[in-house]
Formats: sequence, structure tokens, C-alpha cells
Amino acid sequence: MVKSSSSSSETADVQSVLEAVYKSAKRFVGRGKVATYIPALARVPKEKFGMAVVAVDGSEAVVGDAEEAFSIQSISKVFSLLLAMRLRDQELWKRVGREPSGNPFNSLVQLEYEKGVPRNPFINAGAHITTDCIVVGNDDPKQAILAEVRALAGNPAIDFDMEVAESEREHGYRNAAIANFLKANGNLESEVDDVLDVYFHQCSIAMSCRDLARAGSFLANRGVDVATGRRIATERKTRRINALMATCGLYDAVGSFAFHVGVPAKSGVGGGMLAIIPGEMAVAVWSPGLDAQGNSYVGVKALELFTAKIGRSIY
Ligand code: GLU
Repeated sequence: MVKSSSSSSETADVQSVLEAVYKSAKRFVGRGKVATYIPALARVPKEKFGMAVVAVDGSEAVVGDAEEAFSIQSISKVFSLLLAMRLRDQELWKRVGREPSGNPFNSLVQLEYEKGVPRNPFINAGAHITTDCIVVGNDDPKQAILAEVRALAGNPAIDFDMEVAESEREHGYRNAAIANFLKANGNLESEVDDVLDVYFHQCSIAMSCRDLARAGSFLANRGVDVATGRRIATERKTRRINALMATCGLYDAVGSFAFHVGVPAKSGVGGGMLAIIPGEMAVAVWSPGLDAQGNSYVGVKALELFTAKIGRSIY
């Protein structure tokens, strides 16, 4: 249950809030452009729109296409960061920064003048560092990521979309350039091809809004998985992941998102978004039409409507 913003004594059911938001945000469906850099993403219908909420009390609410699996793309960077922080913690922060980049997520320019130390773990270069930690720390790094995501979502059917993974590899010239540049600067321990292989697979993970909200619920619940009560991360690490989402999670639109929506979130070019209202709930949205910054057009609007309706912002 969430308190309505209209009156603190009045409580509104999450499901009805979600339905109202869905109805209102539906008018934006059709806006934006679906990612076209690989065919498997280019053909996803722009009309898709789903939302899911998992609250820390275990209650769930879904609306629209919330059970349909989509390509999580860069949202996977949250899960690879979690695994890398578990494996390395302090040492990780010598290899990757914690500042917004102010540059496109796949930029090479900044990496060059900052000598191979990526600005943050949510741009591609930074994610190559977290993926590298997972490659070094696991015999089967792809399965390690998949197993973590499946366990977090409580859904063993979650899988890589092999067509997407293969397409990412075929079109992955910029990612290959970034990984090679990191290696040339001594900031990649494993082989470039091994890091890229795992990175392309993690981007291809297909899951639904419900899966995603469940998987992100520990971020809303001080590091404890809502469904199982299992500790996923310490409170400190959880706060840090949320802080990075708030400052670096939405490409070049973090400032505007903080201004209009006001909660930590991570987006992906598949049109998915995972937003966290700390202490309360994880919210997942999917709609594939992207705005000029690469975030889901409808997703941003829906999250703005949702946080406004329940009167929440972390600021
Ligand atoms: N697979 C994409 C890339 O690495 C991820 C893009 C994204 O969602 O930000 O270019």
C-alpha cells in the first residue's frame, strides 16, 4: 500500500495508482524511436507498454505488457555492478569512477583523455570493467550473471536472447574499440574477447517488467531480497548502487530525470527502466520508443506520473 499524495491519511492501492498512470501515460505511446542498431531490437513493436511494482511488503502490481520479456540491455549494468562490488569492492573504485559522464554512453573521447579510467560503471567502458571482474572471478561468468538475475527475479526461465547477443557481437565495433582501449591502458585483466562475449550476453538478457521489479527489489529494501529475505548486498553497497543510479543511470538525461522524477533509475536501449523508491518499492517500466537521450519516452513520462501521484522524490 502507498499513501496517496492528496491526503496522508488516505491510502491508495498500488494497483489502482498503476492503472491510473498507465491510462494517462498511454497517450505518449508511439512517440520516440525504437533502437535500430540491431535488427532484433528494431522490430520490437513501439506500442508495447507495461509496468510492474514490487513493494517491500511483498505486494505486487502489474499493468499492460508487464509479463512480456524484453531485452534489458544496459539495465544489466546494475547486476554486473552488484557482482563486481561483491568480488572487488574497494579495488574496483581505483579502476572506475563515480561521476556522471556528460557524454554518450559509448563515447571513446573521454576515455582517452582520462587515460582509460571510465567515469562510472553505467557507461559502456565502466561496464566493461565490472564485467572484467566477473570474468576473472568466475569459471563460467555468463552463467554467474544469469544465475544471479534468475535468483533475484525468482524466475529460472530467464535467459539470454541468443539472436540479440549475436547481433551485439556483429555490430559491436565501438564496444570492441572501448575494450581494446581499456586493455591498452592496463585497465582490463582478462582478454578483450572474453569481456566482450560476456558483456554482449548480459545485454541480451530477456526479462519482463515483473521479473525486473522483483530482481531490483533488494535495492528498495536495504539490500534484502523482498521475496526470499536473502541478503543480496550490504546496506552500504545498496546505498551506493542507488546513488550511482541516481547520478549516472539515465545517459545524458540524469539531471532532467532527477528534476522531473526524483528517484534512482537505470534505463536500457531496449526501452526498459528500473526505478527505486528506497525503503518502499521497485518499479519497472517497458516501452520501446526511445527519446533523444536513449531513454524510454513513455517510461520517463510514466515514472514522472507515478512519483507525482504518490508524492515521492528522494530530494
Ligand atoms: N548493447 C548496447 C551497447 O553496448 C547497450 C546499450 C544500452 O542499453 O545503453 O551498445
